[in-house]
Amino acid sequence: MLEAETLLKECSGYLKPDDLARLQSAYQFSELAHHGQFRNSGEPYVSHPVAVAGILAGLHLDAQALTAALLHDVMEDTAVTKAQITDTFGKSVAELVDGVSKLDKIEFESAEKAQAENFRKMLLAMARDVRVILIKLADRLHNMRTLDAVPAHKRRRIARETIEIYAPIANRLGLNNIYQELEDLSFKYLYPDRARVLSKAVTAARGNRREVVGKVLANIEKRLADNGVVAQVQGREKHLHSIYNKMREKHLSFGQVLDVFGFRIIVKDVHACYIALGVLHGL
Ligand code: MN
Repeated sequence: MLEAETLLKECSGYLKPDDLARLQSAYQFSELAHHGQFRNSGEPYVSHPVAVAGILAGLHLDAQALTAALLHDVMEDTAVTKAQITDTFGKSVAELVDGVSKLDKIEFESAEKAQAENFRKMLLAMARDVRVILIKLADRLHNMRTLDAVPAHKRRRIARETIEIYAPIANRLGLNNIYQELEDLSFKYLYPDRARVLSKAVTAARGNRREVVGKVLANIEKRLADNGVVAQVQGREKHLHSIYNKMREKHLSFGQVLDVFGFRIIVKDVHACYIALGVLHGL
């Protein structure tokens, strides 16, 4: 219940009271349907759909999508039917839940045979409403976050499927944070030793690099402002798996990966973009 309250609070920032009431009843519906079921972690099952909805609330998805997220496993795992969901929450929500359930099925039947690229295309084609894919990605993200609780022999398969199928989809949809977290979590389960060593190296290098990043950032901002360019400047750190990939593909040592930090400058149009580029070259 606490988690549900946190979810509603988060949504109250951008959803209407009517929508919040509907979410509240979807939560109760889901809790009742999953009653007596538990996650591998021992928590009541409903904590999972609530967490999935929470991830999507972070992306400010609409009320229908969040309602469907709360209900996304009821058709798979309980006696609830699509007709019941239609009656209680409307056709759109029922279609979303049905869409997610169908994706789960093709995963089960053909994940082994399908080549990753074909499989991704199939997933995207099957989910005519992009919200279905978003719910599926949030579902996978929460399952990856809680993978420790899953029996060891299943972890590798789930991690491989995540890095081959779901992370690239998140990347293609521009969901950068989800993409990076999916990749890094998969990396950790696929290659625990490499991930540990690399993570240590990054932490050690970070100490002195952080300062440099701050300085560079301040410099870029000042120069852009001096030249009248209105811009948003962000510094970012390359995520673990992308450092690993670069080392592997280009046969580099960690110390040779020079673009661990990157900067993103967002301006309002192409003209400003070229001016910003010129300013940077001048730095
Ligand atoms: Mn699920």
